[in-house]
Amino acid sequence: MQKGTIGVTSENIFPVIKKFLYSDHEIFLRELVSNAVDATQKLKAVASSGEFRGETGDLRVKITADEKKGTITVSDNGIGMTEEEVNKYINQIAFSSAGEFLDKYKDQLNNIIGHFGLGFYSAFMVSKKVEIQTLSWKEGAEPVKWSCEGDPSYEISKGKRKERGTDIILHLDDESKEYATEAKINSLLNKYCKFLPVEIAFGRETEWKDGKSVETGNDKIINNTTPLWTKKPADLKEEDYMNFYRELYPMQEDPLFYIHLNVDYPFNLTGVLYFPKIKDKIELSRNKIQLYCNQVFVTDSVENIVPDFLTLLHGVIDSPDIPLNVSRSYLQSDSNVKKISSHITKKVADRLEEIYKNDRKSLEEKWDNLKLFIEYGMLTDEKFYERAEKFSLLKNTDNKYFSYEEYRTAVEPSQTDRHKKLIYLYATDIHEQYSFIESAKNRGYDVLIFDSQLDAHFVNLLESKFKETSFARVDSDHIDKLIQKEEKEKPAISAAEESDIANAFEAVLPSGSHYSVVVENLDERDAAVLITQSEFMRRYREMSALNGGMNFYGSLHESYTVTVNYSHPAIKKILNEKKEKLNPKVQEIETKLSAPQQALEQFLEKVKGKKEDEMDKSDRDEKERLESEVEKVKQERKELLAGFGKENELIRQVCDLALLSNGMLKGEELNKFVKRSLSLIS
Ligand code: ADP
Repeated sequence: MQKGTIGVTSENIFPVIKKFLYSDHEIFLRELVSNAVDATQKLKAVASSGEFRGETGDLRVKITADEKKGTITVSDNGIGMTEEEVNKYINQIAFSSAGEFLDKYKDQLNNIIGHFGLGFYSAFMVSKKVEIQTLSWKEGAEPVKWSCEGDPSYEISKGKRKERGTDIILHLDDESKEYATEAKINSLLNKYCKFLPVEIAFGRETEWKDGKSVETGNDKIINNTTPLWTKKPADLKEEDYMNFYRELYPMQEDPLFYIHLNVDYPFNLTGVLYFPKIKDKIELSRNKIQLYCNQVFVTDSVENIVPDFLTLLHGVIDSPDIPLNVSRSYLQSDSNVKKISSHITKKVADRLEEIYKNDRKSLEEKWDNLKLFIEYGMLTDEKFYERAEKFSLLKNTDNKYFSYEEYRTAVEPSQTDRHKKLIYLYATDIHEQYSFIESAKNRGYDVLIFDSQLDAHFVNLLESKFKETSFARVDSDHIDKLIQKEEKEKPAISAAEESDIANAFEAVLPSGSHYSVVVENLDERDAAVLITQSEFMRRYREMSALNGGMNFYGSLHESYTVTVNYSHPAIKKILNEKKEKLNPKVQEIETKLSAPQQALEQFLEKVKGKKEDEMDKSDRDEKERLESEVEKVKQERKELLAGFGKENELIRQVCDLALLSNGMLKGEELNKFVKRSLSLIS
């Protein structure tokens, strides 16, 4: 028997392993199974080179566990090790200052382990004692036993293995006993070893016999050794891709499209990515892309490896070239990772462009579910935008799809305004904005639909990209103002009269929001009153809501423009009534106003050029007095008009109709409207 100390220059490798690897204890099984897989693959290699002439037999890795004894054994029939090799590979830990290194990278340990020859030692995270029983493939080799109890001393003696290969036997420590349970091992194997390239056996197959499940004598193989991404695309059918998706994510809706990645220069990468149906972004990220390194599962947090929008995709990426042994922030600046990332982006764009060219119909059918992903990509990745503008679609309110180019060609002749600006009209809700969509269509215009989560941002993006084009939501103003073809004449009324009308109408509009009333000559066939919200204000509110905060714009009251259509017969009728009823009183007020008004004007003439603080006190008081006198008369006029408005059923009716067609008339007000309408017709 030989005794010795493990050749790590730092004595403290064991405490380091135990302490820092704490959160990732479970990876020990992945490490031991991958070593066993490597050992079988090395055997294949020496067999095919002719160095090894014996029988390789069925190469397989087998895991057994004894819950009572608290042991787990990982066995393989690979190359095994001679005593010399045990000394070299196991007793000399591959780098000099393990402690220091681990300290520096403690967050990335999961990734480091396999890549710095520490994999085997991860067994000590869960074991009080580890034993190796091994027999090398080499002719005349003797079996070797190695054992170590979690301190730097080990023992080597003659082993008892009769067949080529290695057993790694873990004697679990007290806190780690649960790892020997069948359920735990199954779940770890399922997470890390599902696609390893060599058969992994754990437990026995079962079958149904006499109404219950019984074990057969056969090993149960837990992995698929040739997962789809390792096969040639030419040998695969659509159905194979769908089946593989179900294997990856059981119980999920089928994806829309897939991409098979297969690169061998300038880096190695294979994989299959799927475009899932995206309804909303949050629901999405549940099925993460899984990253493998030679079929060994590494992680499903690929955030720094692929651009953010691609994390919405599902599937598998397998690359031995992604440097897993470095910190995550370093990953972003790694040139290989950058290449991989832009390569994947390009492949995704290629695939979508191919579908656009060859299968437009299916792209259109799936567009609504794909759109969020594409918009997100276009918004966040300039390169992707450049590619996507060729295959991205716009949908109109008649459910027709257009490429950007097609749409421009279609609407340019009719929707260019007198300033040579092309106006894209859009709606966000076909039902709520129905009447506005209708009046746009009546003018021969087309209306797009932008109804997804990201659309507020997306409209801004398109507007910044398209030349001489602006986007206007159909309900943001009267259609003839949205697309101005000719200058409309203003109604022939005085400012005082316009403000009278405003006061009468404002009096009946619901409180809580801000309304500014304007009088315009619209078409006779247009509504009598139109309520709109300016594109600018609305966009800012929407953006601030999207950005999750109530900033300045978000905290403002909703504010609307109320356009009173001077050409409409109902408005003419109202204005006539107003004239009949109020004219004498209005005139009276005007007369009353003229004296203080004149006095104020004269006074202002006198103090002209003086600022408030340059006047003496008596002047200031005088000014205040005159102003308040004028204000008092004006207020009287305002109240007169408000009183008229409140009593006028027709004003209420036309305003309610406008509110109604915006979906803004609710509850008690709606009820009153219904009653009033009935009494008007009965
Ligand atoms: P790595 O696998 O990264 O080299 P490990 O610490 O996991 O680092 O293993 C060290 C070495 O021990 C391996 O490179 C291999 O030569 C040897 N080894 C480990 N497990 C086995 C095994 N099951 N069969 C044969 N050799 C093994």
